[in-house]
Amino acid sequence: MAEHRHFSEPELVIASHNEGKVREIEDLLKPYNVDVVSAGKLGLDEPEETGKTFIANAELKARAATTACNKPALSDDSGLVVPALDGAPGIYSARWAGPEKDFEMAMGLVEDGLKESEDHRAYFVAALALCWPDGHCEIFEGRVDGALVFPPRGNLGFGYDPIFLPEGGDMTFGELDPAVKHTISHRADAFEKLTRACFAS
Ligand code: IMP
Repeated sequence: MAEHRHFSEPELVIASHNEGKVREIEDLLKPYNVDVVSAGKLGLDEPEETGKTFIANAELKARAATTACNKPALSDDSGLVVPALDGAPGIYSARWAGPEKDFEMAMGLVEDGLKESEDHRAYFVAALALCWPDGHCEIFEGRVDGALVFPPRGNLGFGYDPIFLPEGGDMTFGELDPAVKHTISHRADAFEKLTRACFAS
């Protein structure tokens, strides 16, 4: 098994300005007694996501935060990948919804793109980067496979949840109880890998 660096610092910066994401990460790290503070609260600038992969974007966000405040930082980058759309919306998942964060429109764009295709497979990806001020980074990626269904179903989730049917299930992520979604999601998968490698004693 690969050697991972254990996280033993008292404080961790979450390289995100999205307070919802920060709260979710705070909850996931509760068992490990880490003081979590967000880049937003520290007033750090948000770097432009210029990477070509989820991992590259997660790493550039964590590196920017750790460099700015000289503390370890964790970031997450995620999105929906549709093979029949050549991987779109992928790293552009948030940007497809535009400045108004209009996910009905974004889901409509996915549906239009798939009009000619029988292949409705899709998966969500979450990349996590944990970086230290000395430049060391640990990277983890999680994934959940499924298929896309139209019209959208359910309003319990966010983003593309109402069109995503996880493999083996008959309810979309928009219909599933969030507590259930959080046990099978791409983010849960990535956090499992991160905490097992870097936080568990
Ligand atoms: P990020 O904040 O740059 O990582 O953008 C992630 C984007 O991917 C979100 O705005 C959503 O559009 C999409 N996304 C990521 N995870 C999920 C999920 O669990 N459900 C639905 N959409 C998601």
